[in-house]
Amino acid sequence: MTQSQIIGILGAGTMGNGIAHVCARSGFPVLLCDVAQPALDRGLSTIHKNLAREVSKARLTQQQADEAYARITPTIDRDALAPCRLVIEAATEKFEIKSALFRDLDRILAPEAILASNTSSISITRLAAVTQRPAQVIGMHFFNPVPVMKLVEIIRGLQTSQATFDAVRALSLQLDKIPVEVNDAAGFVSNRVLMPLINEAIYAVHEGVATPEAIDTIFREGMAHPMGPLTLADFIGLDVCLDIMRVLVDGLGDANYRTRPLLVRRVDPGWLGRKSGKGFYTYTNV
Ligand code: NAD
Repeated sequence: MTQSQIIGILGAGTMGNGIAHVCARSGFPVLLCDVAQPALDRGLSTIHKNLAREVSKARLTQQQADEAYARITPTIDRDALAPCRLVIEAATEKFEIKSALFRDLDRILAPEAILASNTSSISITRLAAVTQRPAQVIGMHFFNPVPVMKLVEIIRGLQTSQATFDAVRALSLQLDKIPVEVNDAAGFVSNRVLMPLINEAIYAVHEGVATPEAIDTIFREGMAHPMGPLTLADFIGLDVCLDIMRVLVDGLGDANYRTRPLLVRRVDPGWLGRKSGKGFYTYTNV
């Protein structure tokens, strides 16, 4: 991609605003689209705050941060994405929502445009199948927080073309990320391995084996994880974890992936982790 080509980001939540941030920081004009203005406002304010943090840590100059922010145009009109050469979808982790979006993006975008999904677990091949351009559909799975984490899992659907793969891999490098290629399977590699760990940590809390603090300390101090599994679950979003685990159960058909009831009991009252102020831990000033 050249820096005159607009990148569309669909969804301005935790991941969408982070992806918009890194695209704009790397010089690309960005159209950031969500369903409602409050979601866009929250996303923009997070980007503003995160760019300011990079300035305070001397990773960016004030001018670079201002220029990056100015490259992002918010919109609630999905049709406005028409000029985009690439759209990265980062909406809610539900197949019905994503497939409806892919169908619509297929209608809106030019035939040569690429459609990428930041899905954590949903089959790229299935999403591609609802479009008329399956060769140009691909998974581009960023990690949270996107401005900091280097990895991008690039997922080839069954029909993804080599040209699409090469374009998305090259873009990942332009965004200063480390792309890793994986094939399409529920949860890809990262969540197929991570979610059972989180699920089991939740089960250990449920059974009274240890407190969340104790479990997280074990993983931090004993296994050199930068954060324990329950802190990480709060960080990802407990609703997002639940959605991913449900896709894993469906996709892998393995009872070991079955979601622990304690996770459902946290999500039902809206205790979604860091973003809602409460999950396995309580957060202030988020
Ligand atoms: P989120 O709940 O923070 O944000 C989702 C956003 O999508 C919301 O702003 C919502 O309004 C918007 N949205 C919903 N329907 C939409 C539509 N039809 N059109 C446009 N916007 C719509 O969720 P998130 O954590 O940012 O997750 C987004 C995607 O990224 C999911 O597929 C998730 O699995 C994936 N992901 C999440 C993480 C993580 O750590 N949270 C990491 C990697 C990938």
